[in-house]
Amino acid sequence: MFHTANYPFIIAGPCSIENREQLRSVTETLSSDPRIAMIRCGVWKPRSRPGGFEGLGEVALQWIKELKEEYPQVRFCCEVAQPQHVEQCLRYGIDAVWIGARTSGDPFSMEELCQALQGTQLPVMVKNPTAPDIQLWIGAIERVLATGTSQVAAIHRGFFMRNNIGYRNNPLWEIPIELQRLMPQLHVFCDPSHIGGNRELIPQLMQTAMDLHFEGLMVEVHPQPAEALTDAAQQITPQHLITLLDSLIVRRSDEVADKDLTLLRQQIDQIDRQLIESLRTRMEVSRKIALVKQRNNMTVFQPKRWELVLEKDLALAQQMGLDNTFVKELFEKIHGESVRLQEEALTGNKKEIQ
Ligand code: PEP
Ligand code: MN
Repeated sequence: MFHTANYPFIIAGPCSIENREQLRSVTETLSSDPRIAMIRCGVWKPRSRPGGFEGLGEVALQWIKELKEEYPQVRFCCEVAQPQHVEQCLRYGIDAVWIGARTSGDPFSMEELCQALQGTQLPVMVKNPTAPDIQLWIGAIERVLATGTSQVAAIHRGFFMRNNIGYRNNPLWEIPIELQRLMPQLHVFCDPSHIGGNRELIPQLMQTAMDLHFEGLMVEVHPQPAEALTDAAQQITPQHLITLLDSLIVRRSDEVADKDLTLLRQQIDQIDRQLIESLRTRMEVSRKIALVKQRNNMTVFQPKRWELVLEKDLALAQQMGLDNTFVKELFEKIHGESVRLQEEALTGNKKEIQ
């Protein structure tokens, strides 16, 4: 199933099935493009808050079944969160299922789901849990592997974090890359829709996923994205997806002899990015502090505070096995830049006031 001559493995479809016409229209367009390997459709929607659209359930499965008679070459997959969802998917001939981010992080739910999957040979994709805990993701995958199904894939959909800059879910690319390294046999796909949360970000996220050698993509599409009942901001039209696929640059990774080296270097690149993002956030906070100091008639450089900060940082660094001199020099540099920025902020502010 997930092995395909058509690399990358493209899965696309609506976040939720909303009515028969919407499903038919998406299927018509997507089935005309041989690059689309499977149609995704949400039938039971896990909503954070009660009272929203929760999916149509069994009636939507019936529409899929009817469409499969018309389009026998098209494969469909749905999200399952409970054992009865698995049973219904099997009853309606759904080709594959995925386990969502809110379910994969719960070992009890995973156990129950896996009992229903046991021995069925249904292909399963496991989205990462919302928390950036690779062990929890691996645990969910191991539970699925233990059901005996030979077709398992992981889907990277980003991680919920309090300070996500720009994204709905922080990609933390080093986590799926580490997963690929630890489980080299596993298919790893990327879901740019739930990472981005915004259709503007889909093209660049699709390309990044390809550059990082993900094997496939799961993209949400809807005939009228802005009117979608769920995830309206991140869906694109099926036709738009086809255009994006036309311009996607796909490079094969097999030129590099040692794949571990590539995967580890990719992790370094992502960690460097985070370091730079953290530095930027630190400097922003520092500028705000300058204004508070000014309000309180304090000098920019506060030696007592600096001594305490350095002491605390060095103790933490030591606990983590980092070289003391290295960390001291690094923080002296960061602090120096912070003082410079605070002085600059205050001079600018004074000028404005004058
Ligand atoms: C979905 O794919 O529509 C979905 C609910 O995704 P996730 O589990 O990644 O939030
Ligand atoms: Mn969605």
